[in-house]
Formats: sequence, structure tokens, C-alpha cells
Amino acid sequence: MPRKIGFIGLGLMGRGMARNLIRKGNSVTLYNRNRSKAEEVAQLGGQVVNSPAEATQGADVVVTMLADPAALLSVTEGANGILSAIRPGTILIDSSTVSPTATLRVAEALKARGAHMIDAPVFGSKNEAERGELGFIVGAERAIFDSVADIFACMGKTFYVGGNGAGIYAKLVVNLIIAVTLEAMNEGMVLATKAGIDPEIMLEVIQSSRARSGIIEMKSPQVLKRDFSPFFPLRLMDKDLGLVLDTARSTGVPLFLTSMLKQIYQACMSDGLGEEDYCATIKFEEKLAKVEVESHKPKQAEAS
Ligand code: NAP
Repeated sequence: MPRKIGFIGLGLMGRGMARNLIRKGNSVTLYNRNRSKAEEVAQLGGQVVNSPAEATQGADVVVTMLADPAALLSVTEGANGILSAIRPGTILIDSSTVSPTATLRVAEALKARGAHMIDAPVFGSKNEAERGELGFIVGAERAIFDSVADIFACMGKTFYVGGNGAGIYAKLVVNLIIAVTLEAMNEGMVLATKAGIDPEIMLEVIQSSRARSGIIEMKSPQVLKRDFSPFFPLRLMDKDLGLVLDTARSTGVPLFLTSMLKQIYQACMSDGLGEEDYCATIKFEEKLAKVEVESHKPKQAEAS
């Protein structure tokens, strides 16, 4: 049955998610702080509105896909925010990667109004968002989650991990592992290149060995082509590593690799790499080692 959905946050990820909800016949209202992004999505359908409150009025479900905790709190608690308009029984699906603290704060505020929260951060990137193939890591009351399974099905697959907050905790763990693995690739590939090994051959060896990983498979072609256009901007992974460390501090867990890696991300941010894809962290290693990891294949051969 088609649903009335308010969608808030039409950035790199949100635009693909909203398009899939529209394609599947739902009635979608679209809000983005920078209105032009909402208007672009509305070319496919849906109605552009002027505030998070307007996107919430009359909606059965509100989906948010925002940059960070500050954005989520502004869109929920701010003037003309979701909380000012939400009706009892409405469900907020927040797919942003935010802090467990922000998630639980919003969940409490919704509960006080008779509404419900689902934290459902995602894995996959903008291509998976466009294709409706994201993975949603879900934290919510089971019955509330089950009641909107059809909405998730429009955008990807789901992994239920527990009550409110569990989705966010699990997502932060995934990103910790992805960021550390990618950094291991960076260091290894810079060393290999400096030692005179062809990067293409080195990658073939890595991916045939126990060192292979999904994130290396995804990111190494971008690095070898020197294409750092953003699928997942470096500034967002920097934000996520900050959230991981905050969470580790509050739960009393020492994270040695993540602490060091956060400093590398900080250096990249200071070097102006924030809007590039997070695989651009390799540029930091390359600068120190005075070497560049690049495909040796002739460009013509690559195109064919
Ligand atoms: P993005 O392109 O930077 O989009 C961020 C969205 O948040 C935009 O709609 C932006 O509005 C909005 N926003 C930011 N600050 C705001 C504020 N103070 N008030 C209202 N709206 C605000 O980011 P994205 O790549 O779509 O990522 C969205 C979330 O998904 C992030 O939490 C990210 O960590 C997570 N994520 C991303 C990927 C990926 O591959 N990109 C993968 C998994 C998870 P404007 O357009 O007006 O700036």
C-alpha cells in the first residue's frame, strides 16, 4: 500500500533513497535546507516543501538522511522542526550516521509525543542508494520496525540488531573497520610502489591473499585512476571516527588504531581534502613517502 512519506535531507545519499520511494508509488514530500536539491528530486515526482515541519504534517513516516548529529537535532528540535508537527503514531526513520546520544535524545522526545524512532544508518554508497540496494542497520522496537518493512524494501535490505541506539552503535563499528582497513591498504600500496612493484600486480596479490577485503575491492580502482570524486566525502568519515572515539570514551573502551587514524584524517582535513572521497587519505601517505600510487596500464587499454 502506498504511504505518505516526508523525506528530509537530499544530499549524495538521500536523493537516491527518495527517488526509490517515489518510483515505488509512495506519496513523498521533500525538504532540503538547500532547496535546489529537493527540486531536482521532484522532477521525478513528490512535492517540495519549505520546512521539516511541513514534510512531517500528514506523513505516516518521516525519513531523515542528514550529515551529522547537529543536523539531526536542528531538523528535529529547531524552529519548524519535526517535533513541532509530529502526530502520535508517526514513525521517524533516521538513516544519518549520528551519535548514539543524539539518536536516543530524539527517540525520547518522539516517545513523549506518542511517536516512534527507528535508527537505521546505512552501508553502501550513492550508487547503492540510487539502485535501492542499501543495507540498513536497524535499531528499534521490533513491532515498529516490522510495520514499515515495505518502506525499507523500496530502498534496500535490512539487518535488525536491537532496540533504539543499537543500529547506530553497529554502524559505527562497521565504519571503524572500513576506515582502518582502507588505511592499511594505503600504507601497503605506498610501500609497494616505493619498492618498485607495479600497483596493479600488488593489488592482484593482495586480493588473492587473506588480506583481501571488500573495501579494497571497491576503493582501489578509484585510487589507481586518481579519481577522488566523492562517493563518501572524507569529511564524513572524519566525523564518523570522531563519533566512534566519543562512543569509546563514554563506554570505557580503548581504541588505539582509531585514535591514530583520527589524527591522519585531521591532517587530511587541514590539507583541504574534506570534500574529496575518503580514499584520498592515501595522498597524505604519498606526500610523506614522495611517491604516487597510480595504474601503470596505458590509459587507452583502460578505456577498452
Ligand atoms: P551529504 O551529501 O553531505 O548530505 C548531507 C545532508 O544533510 C544534506 O541534505 C544537507 O543539506 C543536510 N544538512 C547538513 N547540515 C544540516 C543542517 N544543519 N540542517 C539541515 N540540513 C543539514 O551527505 P551524504 O553522503 O548524503 O550522507 C548523509 C549521511 O549518511 C551522513 O551521516 C553520512 O555519514 C551517512 N552515510 C553516507 C554514505 C556515503 O557513501 N555518502 C554512506 C553511508 C552513510 P544541504 O544540501 O542544504 O547542505
